[in-house]
Amino acid sequence: MIKEILKNAFETQFDIVGIIKTKKYLSEAHHMDLIVPKVGYPTMVVLGLAYPRRIIKNTSTHLVPSFYTFGSDYHKVLKERIVKVMEKFNFQYDYGVDNHPHDERLAAKLAGIGFFGKNQLIINQAFGSYIFLGVVFIDVELESELILTIDDDCGDCRKCIDACPTQALFEGGYDIEKCMSNYNQEKRVLTDHEIQANYSLFGCDICQMVCPKNINKGIKVHPEFELSGKEMVSITDLFQFSEKEFNAQYTHMSYLWKGKTILMRNALTLLLKQKNRQYNDLIETSIEKQNASWYKETAIKILDKLKDETQ
Ligand code: SF4
Ligand code: SF4
Repeated sequence: MIKEILKNAFETQFDIVGIIKTKKYLSEAHHMDLIVPKVGYPTMVVLGLAYPRRIIKNTSTHLVPSFYTFGSDYHKVLKERIVKVMEKFNFQYDYGVDNHPHDERLAAKLAGIGFFGKNQLIINQAFGSYIFLGVVFIDVELESELILTIDDDCGDCRKCIDACPTQALFEGGYDIEKCMSNYNQEKRVLTDHEIQANYSLFGCDICQMVCPKNINKGIKVHPEFELSGKEMVSITDLFQFSEKEFNAQYTHMSYLWKGKTILMRNALTLLLKQKNRQYNDLIETSIEKQNASWYKETAIKILDKLKDETQ
């Protein structure tokens, strides 16, 4: 049976495998008013790969992004694992990991990979929310689907809602505009409130860290996600290196696709929090050199505050 063949093949590379008919996903996706491109392939494999939880703190010389970025770029890792499986078959296929137009979390819910938590993440029984998701559309007909059993939900818990520092979460919903993990990855000027709230060089881990479903989870470490020694970003590298030099130094980090300027802008918010004035000259130079107006505007605002010794 094709379902069993695909399941066995993907289980050699992934921790969680669900297989559904693409039409099921498309009908739900349209039902939810998502703009989803039509897919010609009838079978959709939904995959989960566990990643570990590791806490590293910011220092006065190095800053730390969200721990899901540690190790090799998960986009690349999942794609390589998908290709490794699919090259054994002669099927036509298409796939995506994170930055593609499909709703992975909806697909994961439909395939039983996990339940949809109030923190807006898919929560799997074995790995909690510490899973990267990927989807593969395959040109093969399925006799029956492989839908995993979900026997869990958030219940009355609201720890993530109460812990969210920007009030982005609420019962029954989420305001993406308020979410730090969203705005600290956007190329734009940050408001005073956003500057004050931001605590991470990239992303935000709070609603995962407080979740009781993640207790004793985040333990499994695939070889690609071993620490590489590049988890902490040197503030000097960030402001002195060219984009090319920085990419070479921090190669394989998943945040690179967003560009270094985003990290510089976020680093400013952390320097302000630390009242760390030792990089003021580098910030000054970066304002002169940078072309992005959203960076300049935020940097000028923060540098003024850093120069004000009374703050
Ligand atoms: S990622 Fe951070 S800001 Fe966004 S919802 Fe979770 S706790 Fe709130
Ligand atoms: S913290 Fe509680 S409410 Fe939030 S996702 Fe986890 S179980 Fe659900």
